[in-house]
Parts: sequence; C-alpha cells; structure tokens
Amino acid sequence: MSAAITRFSDWSVVSEPALPDAVRTLLIQTVEDAHLTVCELRRRGLEVTFERVETPRELNEALARSDWDVVIADYTLPRLLGSDALEIVRRSSPDLPFVFVAEDSIQDKAIAGMLSGAQDCVAKETLTRLAAVVRREVREARVRQEGIRARRKLQYLAYHDPITDLPNYAYFRDRLEQAILNARRRVCRGALLVFKVNEFREINESFGHEIADRVLAHVGRCLKETVPDGCELACLRANEFAILIPVLASEEQAIRLVLSAAESLHKPLVVGDVALEAQSRFGVVYFPDHGSSAEILTQNARKAQYQARKTCSLYSVYLPHGAQNRISDLALVSDLRRAIADDRLYLLYQPKMDLRTGATVGVEALARWNHPVLGTIPPARFIPLAERTGLITPLTLWSLEQALRQGREWADQGFPLRVAVNLSMQNSSVADLWERLFDRLAAARLGTHQLQLEITESVVMINPAATLSNMKRLKELGASFAIDDFGIGYSSLAYLKRLPIDEIKIDKSFVVHAATEAEDGAIVKLIVQMGHELGLKIVAEGIEDAETLDFLARLGCDMAQGYYIGRPLPGPELGAWLAARRKQGTS
Ligand code: C2E
Ligand code: CA
Ligand code: CA
Repeated sequence: MSAAITRFSDWSVVSEPALPDAVRTLLIQTVEDAHLTVCELRRRGLEVTFERVETPRELNEALARSDWDVVIADYTLPRLLGSDALEIVRRSSPDLPFVFVAEDSIQDKAIAGMLSGAQDCVAKETLTRLAAVVRREVREARVRQEGIRARRKLQYLAYHDPITDLPNYAYFRDRLEQAILNARRRVCRGALLVFKVNEFREINESFGHEIADRVLAHVGRCLKETVPDGCELACLRANEFAILIPVLASEEQAIRLVLSAAESLHKPLVVGDVALEAQSRFGVVYFPDHGSSAEILTQNARKAQYQARKTCSLYSVYLPHGAQNRISDLALVSDLRRAIADDRLYLLYQPKMDLRTGATVGVEALARWNHPVLGTIPPARFIPLAERTGLITPLTLWSLEQALRQGREWADQGFPLRVAVNLSMQNSSVADLWERLFDRLAAARLGTHQLQLEITESVVMINPAATLSNMKRLKELGASFAIDDFGIGYSSLAYLKRLPIDEIKIDKSFVVHAATEAEDGAIVKLIVQMGHELGLKIVAEGIEDAETLDFLARLGCDMAQGYYIGRPLPGPELGAWLAARRKQGTS
C-alpha cells in the first residue's frame, strides 16, 4: 500500500501550477497589432513565442501543427471574423484559453463573444491588462488539465491494483458478470481460475513488505506474458489473482492455462543473492454451472483453491455438489472409517490392453465411495483424506482383498488377469502398512502372482532403503510392481532401475496429447526408449482416442489404458465385457 501513496503524491493536484518558460501564443491579428501585443506582453515580463495567422486556413493549420498555451484574436480582422475564429479554435481545442482584443467602440460585441466561449476581452485602450489576463488564463487552463489528469488517474486507481498494475476486483467483477450473461445467452461455458502465491505470508515476514510487493509485481508481469488474448487477468486483492476465460472450448483448455500460468511463475525473481520463485495452487470453476453471479463464482473458485491447498494439488476444480466441499473433513473422516468397515466402498476395474496382440492383460482397481447423503465421492477427495488420517492402511487392505477375490473369480471364468492395486502411503504410517500387507498376502495364499502394486515415485522416495527391502519381500510372494504417474515426479529412470520394478506407467498428462503435441510426443517417446533399454515394460495411461492409441503402438509402447479402450467398470460388468470381446475374437 505504501507504494500507492507515494505514487499518488506524484500526480496529485498542485494548487498553483507554474507558467511555461515561454508562453506559446497564437495571434490572430494584423502584423501591426501582433507586434503591439508581443511588445506589450514582453514589456510586462511575460516570455512568449508566437505565430501569427490571418485566415481560417492558416488558423486550422496552426492548430493542427502545434500545442498552444493561448490564442489572442482581434475581433475585427478583414478575412476572419472574431466569432468565426473562436468557433474554429473551440472545435479543435475546447479547453485552449482564447482572449479577444477589441476597439472600445465594439467592446459590446466582443463581450457577447466572450460570453459565447472566449475567456476574456481586453480593450485596445487598456492593453496593459493583457499580460495579467494571459497569465491568469494560462494558469487556469493548466489547473483544469491537471484536474482532468487527476480524475483519470483516480479512475485508473479505482479499477487497478497499484502494486501489480493489474485490473482489480471492481473492474474484473464487471467483466465476469458480462461473461456469465454472455455464456447463458449463447449457451456456452467459461472458466474462472483463482490463485495465490504460496507461503506469501512467510515471504512478507522474512523479507519485508517491500520485497513482498516486488514478488507480487513480478508475478503480475509473468502472468501478463502468459495469459492469452481474449482472457482477462486481475489482482482481486493483495496476493490473490484471477484469470477469466470468457468462452471456453473445453475444460482441458482451462487446465492447460493452469499449467502454463504455474510454469510462468517458476521464473525466479532475484533479490540480492536470493532467487525467489513463486508457486501457486489454483481453484477452477466453470460458468454458468458453478455460479450465476460474479460473487458466487469467485467464492466457489476460492473454495476450490482451498481444496487444492488441502490436498497439495496444483489445482482443484470446484465440486458442484457444494455440500462435498462444505462438509467438514472431520465428519467425512468418521464417515469414511465407517464406510470401510461397512463395505460401502467399492472397486471399479479398468482394462489394460497389450498393444501388440490387442488382448486384455490386466485391470487396475480404482476405489469409489458411495456416501449415503453426499452420493458418489471421487477418490481425489477421499484418498488424500485417508492418507492424512491413517485410514489409508485399512482402505488399502480392503482394496487388496476385494481385488484378489475378484481376480480369482475371473481366473475361474477363464480370464487370468493381473489385477493392479494402488499403493499410496503419503503421510501415513508406512512401516505399518507394509507389515500388514505381508500378513494379508501371506494369508491369501492364492492369487498373489496375479497381483500388481502401483506405487508412485514419491512413495519410493519416502524411505528408499526400506522401500527397496519391502518391495523385494513382496516380490518373493509373487507380486509385481509398476511405477504410477511416471514423468511428473523427480526420480530418474536409472534410479528406479535399482528397485524391483516390472512396469512404468507414463502419466496421462503426457499421453493425452502425445499424438498432437510435439513436446508431449517427444517425452513419451523418450520414456518408452529409455524404459526398454532398462528392460521395463511401458504402459501408457489416459488413451482417449484412436489416434493416440496408434501413435503409442508405433512407438513400441507395450500396454495401454484409457477411456478409449475401456472405462472403469464394476467387477461383474467387466467380466461381461471380457466375455463379449472374446466372442468377437478381440481378446
Ligand atoms: P491413478 O492411479 O493415476 O488412476 C488413473 C485415473 O485416471 C483414474 O481416475 C481413472 O479413472 C482415470 N482415467 C482412466 N482412463 C482415463 C482416460 O482415458 N483419460 C483420463 N483423463 N483419465 C483416465 P480415478 O479413478 O478418479 O482415480 C484417481 C486417483 O485416485 C488414482 O489415480 C489413484 O491415485 C487414486 N486411487 C484410486 N483408487 C485408489 C485406491 O484404491 N487406493 C489408492 N491408494 N489410491 C486410489
Ligand atoms: Ca494407478
Ligand atoms: Ca496414474
């Protein structure tokens, strides 16, 4: 805020503006009269530069050519009437001081002229007044101009954030309301992203306000370079930014913008010998679905942003059944505990296809929760909750048991599929989970060789040495391992090779556009090549169309999973799906 006050004083109105060094004077007079005028002004200590005109054309040209401080006109020139000269000047420069010089005998007419728009009329007989009149009028014109500038600046400040120089909420709200109205009329959708700089308070406390303001200004600049034409960028309040996409082609467009905005913030701000890098979490809402007014939409975007922060995600999309967001985590945790015990969770299974033979070689088990009041709750909501509260252990054991049982059932029906279970361990009692996994698998006896465990790089990194020995023990029991979401973590393939891994699953964010975006395609190709060199099988997840499927098959990728091949289905339905494919000879 301090910056705003300093800047305000720079332009605020000064009561007595100074005269210019030389008053630029346009004279509409005969040569003799002009000479008299200039001598008189200079005699009174007024420095002037001047030009003289006598016809309407010359007057127009002089006005177009130069910036004048004052016009002095004779009322009765043979080729240009005083009233006509006044009209011409007013048309081009409404605010330029205009002073008549008139014979005493025609002062009445001249006074009428003054009333119709000239600033003053000086009689030739009292020309000694002229310098004082010019001084006064030039000063007053300057005051008027300063006033206009100040009003403009005030208006600018009313609609802009002074630190980032971005439009503020007052301005943005208008644009947002307009976009909502438009979306409703044209039956299209738009998106609003809201985000903050993470740990801004810490930056403020450690480095002081001035540096914190510089960080915000830097963020504003980075964003301006990233946000495409047609989108609106704003700073809603200190450390809260928003991007409006008034017309959205697809939800994916909004997520891509999240990614590029997040990327742009990585550009560090160097302060002395410290490089500060801003990071953000984004709340995403779509309109008109998530709110019918700017206020509601902004609130919902903030809720989504809060959700992203809670789940340590880069972004979170607002859940339209707001109750899911509003219900307290505490209540949800106790509901989840009961749901695991009462079997209110269930698993869906998504097929994995061998890209060479087209056969279904495995499935991934994905948990769902059917809440008695809130309806289906997606895993993105309850898995992080389970991870934070230790419920991930009973949840994983429950998934494991269900998946093994289902796997045995399919095997009995003639479909010996490998069943993959997700193993997430963040923030939970990891050692306990591994131990109980051994117990459960040792007791299961049957089906362990059919089991695959999907773990992410971050799980491996929690305690690499312990993870390695635990993985080896599970492998001895017959289980295999896949590295999930590969590419978005930090570990190298070479490092992962030291672990007993069989497969890597390329994260769907690279796969979805692999066939159309050169950069994504190149990353996927590289992972496939390097993975093969290390003797690993490669699975691409997130295959949504035939083009991507073909592209990956051509790259030599081993397996594929995605909506195009098959959506996650309940166990019995997946059995029927497999039977139907076998009948058609595709599996
Ligand atoms: P994940 O392990 O990466 O699972 C793949 C996710 O991608 C699933 O979302 C799946 O429905 C989705 N998906 C499949 N094909 C496509 C596609 O073609 N395009 C797109 N855009 N998405 C596709 P889902 O079921 O919502 O699961 C989300 C995440 O929740 C999973 O990500 C996994 O990390 C976690 N999760 C799910 N079930 C369990 C579980 O039983 N235990 C644990 N620990 N985590 C689970
Ligand atoms: Ca997975
Ligand atoms: Ca995955």
